[in-house]
Amino acid sequence: MIRVSEAQEILLKFSKKGPTERIPFENCLNRMLAENIFADRDAPPFDRVAMDGIAIQSDQLQIRQQFVIEDIQAAGQEQKSLNNPENCLEVMTGAVLPAHTDCVIPYEKLTIKNGVARLISTDHKAFQNTHKKGIDAKKGEQLLSSGTWIHPGVKGVLATTGHTEVEVAQLPKVMICSTGDELVPIQNTPLPHQIRRSNVYMLQAALKDLNIEAHTTHLPDDKEQLNASIGKLLEEYDLLMFSGAVSKGKYDFLPDVFEELGIQIHIHGVKQKPGKPFLFGTKSTKSIFGFPGNPSSTLVCFHLYFKCWFNHYLGNSPKSNYAYLNKEVTFKKPLTNHLLIKSSFEDGKILAEPVINSGSGDLVHLALADGFLSLPPEKDTFKKGELFPITYFHQTGL
Ligand code: AMP
Ligand code: MG
Repeated sequence: MIRVSEAQEILLKFSKKGPTERIPFENCLNRMLAENIFADRDAPPFDRVAMDGIAIQSDQLQIRQQFVIEDIQAAGQEQKSLNNPENCLEVMTGAVLPAHTDCVIPYEKLTIKNGVARLISTDHKAFQNTHKKGIDAKKGEQLLSSGTWIHPGVKGVLATTGHTEVEVAQLPKVMICSTGDELVPIQNTPLPHQIRRSNVYMLQAALKDLNIEAHTTHLPDDKEQLNASIGKLLEEYDLLMFSGAVSKGKYDFLPDVFEELGIQIHIHGVKQKPGKPFLFGTKSTKSIFGFPGNPSSTLVCFHLYFKCWFNHYLGNSPKSNYAYLNKEVTFKKPLTNHLLIKSSFEDGKILAEPVINSGSGDLVHLALADGFLSLPPEKDTFKKGELFPITYFHQTGL
């Protein structure tokens, strides 16, 4: 059996960078930018007033403390001009700095009476509270590069540069398939021997965090039906994600069915807990992920393997995060132990507190964890204060 890192290397070998597409600006949040973005004008585009107050000529600060208000320069008005250097103009944040002024004194630092502004402090200097034209970027300068994840701030830059359409990495068309004759739809009241098919919704939610709207279906533990249904799904979808039926049980038919359908299985079994029977295969351009059915196995494998594949598909190379184990743990098997944890932040460190659970079938405690630490197979005692890779379950974006 292979190690976690070997499985990830194989995944990278068989995943290709995907195509790009042009989409409306409204839909670009949480997508991967696939073009470089340039400033269409200077940023800011004019000398901008950065606080509400008065604008003066800074030379006058040596001579006087009070200024007659000539006029108001509001945001959205064309540039006005200070006629008499001994006077001032009231100015509003976002307005163009009036001609013949170079200093903005905020309302908090003055009093106004009978049309005259009087300074209540003297510590003012030229260019204060002004935002110089082009200081952030010059027209034509590159602001964003292809391969940037579009978070709200990035979306703001796309808006300010007038991008009504954006080139982004295409998302794969994904079908999530639950398997297992014990599963019923969530709106049903299960019989004593049945359970609701929760994994499908967990995977759908995890994909939604990545902006992928996946479809779902259910397949019975029946070889012929599996064969017929998966054959059709392979034609329609780029990526199939299965939960269950990849282990050693009598009804775990997926590995056989995949081979019958000409799917090449590249990974089946990883030295890890949970998720040992994890499977990954391909058929021409299609990718197939088989997650073991226990909820923790499904979610852990999604984060370790699907996200590894997806990052490569988008052309992204994420950095690993690390956290300090906050309680000693022993684990004697020669497997990577993906330990459920709750993280916290203390003295500049991320601490990971193990979440006690009864195993990979324990969905109740999975929900209390916010991720897992991957403890390597070489050791069996992991001390408090040691640093290990952490993966978070919920993190919108990559
Ligand atoms: P399997 O991998 O098919 O052997 O399933 C392992 C365990 O996971 C069994 O207890 C299944 O009932 C459970 N399981 C499989 N699929 C799901 C699902 N979609 N939702 C919740 N539990 C599941
Ligand atoms: Mg099953």
